Amino acid sequence: MNTIVEDRFIAELPADPETSNQRRQVMEAAFSYVAPKTPAHPQLIHVSDEMMAELGFTDTDVRSEEFLQYMSGAKLMAGSQPYAMCYGGHQFGHWAGQLGDGRAINLGAVLHDDQSWMLQLKGAGPTPYSRTADGLAVLRSSVREHLCSEAIYHLGVATTRSLSLALTGDQVLRDVLYDGNAAYEKGAIVCRVAPSFIRFGNFQIFASRSDVKNLQLLADHTIKSFYPEIKLTGPAAYVELFRAVSDRTRQMIVDWQRVGFVHGVMNTDNMSILGLTIDYGPYGWLEAYDPQWTPNTTDKEHRRYRYGNQPAIAQWNLFQLANALFPIVNDAKPLEEILNQFQARYLEDELNMMRAKLGLVEVKEEDAPLVKKLEDALHSSETDMTIFYRQLCAVRADHTSTEVLDLLAPAFYRPAEIASVIKDSWIEWIQAYLDRLRAENQSDEQRAVQMRRVNPKYVLRNYMAQLAIDEADKGDYRLIDELYQLLKRPYDEQVESEKWYALRPEWARNKVGCSMLSCSS
Ligand code: AMP
Ligand code: MG
Repeated sequence: MNTIVEDRFIAELPADPETSNQRRQVMEAAFSYVAPKTPAHPQLIHVSDEMMAELGFTDTDVRSEEFLQYMSGAKLMAGSQPYAMCYGGHQFGHWAGQLGDGRAINLGAVLHDDQSWMLQLKGAGPTPYSRTADGLAVLRSSVREHLCSEAIYHLGVATTRSLSLALTGDQVLRDVLYDGNAAYEKGAIVCRVAPSFIRFGNFQIFASRSDVKNLQLLADHTIKSFYPEIKLTGPAAYVELFRAVSDRTRQMIVDWQRVGFVHGVMNTDNMSILGLTIDYGPYGWLEAYDPQWTPNTTDKEHRRYRYGNQPAIAQWNLFQLANALFPIVNDAKPLEEILNQFQARYLEDELNMMRAKLGLVEVKEEDAPLVKKLEDALHSSETDMTIFYRQLCAVRADHTSTEVLDLLAPAFYRPAEIASVIKDSWIEWIQAYLDRLRAENQSDEQRAVQMRRVNPKYVLRNYMAQLAIDEADKGDYRLIDELYQLLKRPYDEQVESEKWYALRPEWARNKVGCSMLSCSS
């Protein structure tokens, strides 16, 4: 069985000398050693076969008792020195001080095919960073994290991955609706995987404590391990690091917007220094296209992390990272320049992304207004984003606008509303789109193939995850695997799975877990 290799994070950064598991402020250290909690009756309920292969585990490994023990925290892999990282962060726009891995425990890195992967158990018990919480995770949120990590990856969006999902056999108390009705749920552990779990917040915590020495060590470690293309040294290298993180973050957001993904909690502690989607909590996919939408009930008043605000929040978070890097750059100008370029570059990337979604290869002045008018039309009556774009892939340039509107009908939640003014505005947009397609030098077939590569057919709608959770709670894990297999090929036609290419059912509209979610996990 593959095993842990030397972990450069713990080799290059200072450890907390204190080894007790007391909750505390940890100063001048990047992490604290901590042991996972022994689970009562661990049971492995799903393994991502792809991650298994990426990490060099075999079928036999995965079926062994040892693997279950490793992935549930019951036993440590050879060479593992488990630890929790110290980080801070801005939560909902406010500096929150030290946060840290309150329930994530890094097991160390495995090496396979020249790629180093950090393994991290989420929900494996308390750490010095657990503050007032228990260090545990429930089945509900763990199914969501496991399935979504893999689904997002297959959509072509940068993300942390998930190797496995295990039950601990322990009961965990949660108040899902924050209304005083706490109840026990099944405890679970996801083994998350990424080259690194370093967040913007790891830099912020050192900067907030004026610990420049460790700030620099962390930046050097990050560059050496994950941005080896940066050959400069000193302040210039840190500027390049910031540029690279900005670029990756921008790309990640463009991809989120493309597939209609809303993260839900874009706090700076949930921003990866590698530009990976990280920390799957109350996320969701736009069903009805609405830039104001957020799945997170905790954010329903201000909607800070709504779909339409994700690009601006990414920039705001990068501004916080720039502030954190300032003490080792000592010059605000180059950092400001990168930040100022963010918006213009984002808008350019976004327009190109929208061209791809619409199947436009040529670049024309009229594209931006065409996209804007489409957004207005999408918003005029509840329209399913995923189904809309997927149906659009089948448009032929010789269609009439009425034929196209018929083709798009499956995307409308309230078909009866598509009358009078709304219908006229749709017909107007469709006509402009058809005119635009006729100016293209591509066959309908070529365009359809390209569009189907960027417009997914299947996404992990919250009601789908909730169905899998309800079954899993009863001990039936087949739907988890069915969705996992389905979402491995989100851009392919899968005739046997046509039932998942459908509008969110009415029963799911207001059901807990199916539309809105709390942070309780
Ligand atoms: P999140 O908003 O889920 O990213 O979490 C914010 C912070 O709270 C992080 O420092 C987490 O480690 C911590 N946290 C969340 N849930 C728990 C829990 N059940 N036990 C301990 N710490 C937690
Ligand atoms: Mg987090």
